[in-house]
Amino acid sequence: MSGWSKKIALPNDSDGFASFECPHCEYRFKLSASEVIENESEEIFCPSCGLSSEIGNFITKQMLEAAQIQAINMAQEAFHAMFKDLERSNKPGSSVQWKAGSPPIPEPDKVLFGQDDLEEIQLPCCNKHLKVETLEMQLGIYCPYCGNQI
Ligand SMILES: [Zn+2]
Ligand SMILES: [Zn+2]
Repeated sequence: MSGWSKKIALPNDSDGFASFECPHCEYRFKLSASEVIENESEEIFCPSCGLSSEIGNFITKQMLEAAQIQAINMAQEAFHAMFKDLERSNKPGSSVQWKAGSPPIPEPDKVLFGQDDLEEIQLPCCNKHLKVETLEMQLGIYCPYCGNQI
């Protein structure tokens, strides 16, 4: 997948962390959504295997689903607004009458993240934040932003 866009609102947990999955080893970790967006590089490194890829390749299926729901809700609202405009353009006596109907009920945003046992750490090299499993941290991890081994 390409075309990672910084315009996407990354769905994130209550601490503002978004989930990522390594395209090489499927390792899951979390990064602060705002720090990922601030990051100047389009590439990040997997904390587990240390390989890098475009950020878009790390986006999880659940995040894509959540983004799709956001997009569908936005499209439904746009359609409804369009029909509302048409409704206003109705002329009395005309054979064509537009009816907008009731507003769409938005699908609830997906709850992406429940409780997890990930530990939040501050990366000493880049001064950013990462959430990984405690065990992984003990084994040694790579910084997702610069690829340094910590
Ligand atoms: Zn990996
Ligand atoms: Zn770093």
